[in-house]
Amino acid sequence: MSTPQKILPATLGKLAKLGIHHRTDLLLHLPLRYEDETHLAPIDTVQPGMNAQVQGVIKHSEITFRPRRTLVCRLQDSGGELYLRFLNFYPSQQKQLAEGRQIRAIGEVRMGYYGLEMVHPKCRAVDDDTPLQQSLTPVYPTTAGLSQAVLGKLIANALATLPLADTLPDALLQKMKLAGFADCVRLLHNPPPDVSAGSLEQRNHAAWRRIKFDELLAQQLSMRAHHRERGKRAAPELAPQHRLTARLVKDLPFALTGAQQKVYGEISRDLAQPHPMQRLLLGDVGSGKTVVAALAALQAIENGYQAAFMAPTEILAEQHYLKLRDWLAPLGIAPVWLSGSLKKKEKQLAAECIASGETLLAIGTHALFQEQVSFHKLGLAIVDEQHKFGVQQRLALRNKGKIDVGRASARHACPEPVEAVGLKPDLQEPHQLMMSATPIPRTLAMSYYADLDVSVIDELPPGRTPVVTKLVSDARRDEVFARVRSACMGGRQAYWVCPLIDESEALQLQTVLETFQLLTQTFPELRVGLAHGRLDSAEKARVMAAFKAGELQLLVATTVIEVGVDVPNASLMVIDHAERMGLAQLHQLRGRVGRGAAQSLCVLLYQQPLSELARARLKIVFESNDGFAIAQQDLQLRGPGELLGARQSGAAMLRFADIDADEDLLNLARQAADELLRDFPDAAQKHLQRWMANKHDYLRA
Ligand code: ADP
Ligand code: MG
Repeated sequence: MSTPQKILPATLGKLAKLGIHHRTDLLLHLPLRYEDETHLAPIDTVQPGMNAQVQGVIKHSEITFRPRRTLVCRLQDSGGELYLRFLNFYPSQQKQLAEGRQIRAIGEVRMGYYGLEMVHPKCRAVDDDTPLQQSLTPVYPTTAGLSQAVLGKLIANALATLPLADTLPDALLQKMKLAGFADCVRLLHNPPPDVSAGSLEQRNHAAWRRIKFDELLAQQLSMRAHHRERGKRAAPELAPQHRLTARLVKDLPFALTGAQQKVYGEISRDLAQPHPMQRLLLGDVGSGKTVVAALAALQAIENGYQAAFMAPTEILAEQHYLKLRDWLAPLGIAPVWLSGSLKKKEKQLAAECIASGETLLAIGTHALFQEQVSFHKLGLAIVDEQHKFGVQQRLALRNKGKIDVGRASARHACPEPVEAVGLKPDLQEPHQLMMSATPIPRTLAMSYYADLDVSVIDELPPGRTPVVTKLVSDARRDEVFARVRSACMGGRQAYWVCPLIDESEALQLQTVLETFQLLTQTFPELRVGLAHGRLDSAEKARVMAAFKAGELQLLVATTVIEVGVDVPNASLMVIDHAERMGLAQLHQLRGRVGRGAAQSLCVLLYQQPLSELARARLKIVFESNDGFAIAQQDLQLRGPGELLGARQSGAAMLRFADIDADEDLLNLARQAADELLRDFPDAAQKHLQRWMANKHDYLRA
């Protein structure tokens, strides 16, 4: 066995960028793809689109300056010729590619201006008898300044010097028909000559299956570890007292749906446990999550604890505040409002009330967990639209709530990092209720969310008429204007949502202002309002209140109204440039209407030409009103990253497995996780070590 290679400090930094922190991580840094340098393609047989290796003599080499400085070489073999083109090149490369040199070039063939060409092929000088590679050449994911050659050497050294012992017992591997770990990694780094390039590229080779299984298994094990570890941490026992909660239910102007009662029951049981709840409440837009949150908050309050209710935007947080203030006033509970835009004095005052315990319910934006705020006795933290928050923000809120019950004055926020595993037993942390209108497809729930408990509101309150969705090309904008006019003149209200402009917030602001101006001119007979993220909060609140009260008939807005805004009299939603928005966003926006008994309409106004993806998205939203179905399609269209939202972090994402395509492996991994934890806890530990040794604690948020 050779010795471990020394790694230069500069290289270490680059490896870290690739997520490689330990030598063992090199083993699992697997090729992105392979290049086939095992044979030569005669030039007259290559076609555009092919990846090929060709060999010939440079017949001509020159630097052209139009359209930009380019090195162009003509490579000829016995049957034909093609061009090699380099936009960035070193003098040494130019020398290597001088006339008369014999060159082997590998790259993608395409049709260029003068005929077939390769752009930036990998080239090397060869003799007539330079041997071909015996096996496929791995191509690794890498980063600027770290060459394939250097990376390849480090990996080869790791393979030669590190133990590759299997983490899993033989019996399990046999039962699950999985190959041994050592063979699999060796094969993937150095595929033998007889392995088909196709099965490696498609990642369905047995070696890939084992790796993907291992990755999924590690994910399952870590999720379960988190789940179990949570059972060891302490939280206040908030048993239902039915004092305040029953009052609220009685006073509500509506009866809870069966689904609302069911999920509140689940939450209520969790709150009564001495361990922190981490429950995700899912319910489509308009399913009535807010009242469930209010009940949960009351259960904490009737046990003498505080509750915090956090929403991602000022508009939404304020709406919650107003709603809960009205609901809770008869119970003698006055929530406190806290947002970043409050004046310093007001903020201070709110923070004091929270710290003294005078305030039982704090509602606001992420200002709730800023440094200056500390809770007296936080029992429950509620996070609305949880996917809009960063992991860090949610961790901060939870940390804030830690109560050192061993101390007389249990006032200050606990500074300990959450990553500290063995929490002191006398340290209590609040229960957490996360809410989202973005449903989680089944495979996602089984993988990324396996550490959370999930409640689903699967029923809408009665009396809702489904929203009708129309796709309208921008060319027919006038017809949309007519719709707006007739809805508003008929006593209803409408939203006009302005396009999303990713590149620039300034541009976005400009667009919304222009649209506002245009619509004010178009509808002199209507009272038109304007809401966007740059308004100061008092102004925003004034506009929203006016719209809610029916004083404004048409609201021109950016996507700030995307989440949660609730004005039942609004029955028309126009989404301008709908093609720029994501599926979940479109569904959320559409959910702003259809909240009353009137027939509601959502117009998706689009600009032609539509990209393939935009067309697919619009079609899905047009065809379905079901948030769950939409999320499922979203997963297929874009992969899990976007759906996971802030839960995602580089470390959390699966690198190799694809939860949809590899659902069979996901099921196997779940089964294996059970067996390992039951019968082979040491193996489970070893496995986690290999796969997760340096992953951040991304899950407990
Ligand atoms: P979301 O789940 O999207 O957050 P909300 O909590 O904003 O939904 O509720 C949407 C609307 O439905 C609100 O106006 C709310 O008061 C109303 N609502 C909630 N539950 C019921 C119910 N059981 N019956 C009738 N209306 C309800
Ligand atoms: Mg809501």
